Amino acid sequence: MVNAAARKPPAVPQLTPAGRWTQATPEEALSLVARHAIELLSGPDVRLLKECGNPECTRTYVDRSRGMRRQWCGMESCGNRIKAAAYRARKRTAATPDH
Ligand SMILES: [Zn+2]
Repeated sequence: MVNAAARKPPAVPQLTPAGRWTQATPEEALSLVARHAIELLSGPDVRLLKECGNPECTRTYVDRSRGMRRQWCGMESCGNRIKAAAYRARKRTAATPDH
């Protein structure tokens, strides 16, 4: 499926006074995404590819952190949410009497 999408003509970015502008049909956009996926999955960065540690998140990311210890796709989207939930769970446990 990825190869078939990549074989189609991709979206072509244009330079404008405001910066880069890309107008594309869905097919052209998919071709561009497929070409990027092929580059990533066949290149040296594939070993840095990780899935987000949030079980409700489906994102993947390239982990360029020191020691590859990054756990989340992003702190704003998932990291802070998981850390806040863990904090609330610890607080609840600590507040429960007779433990
Ligand atoms: Zn995530």
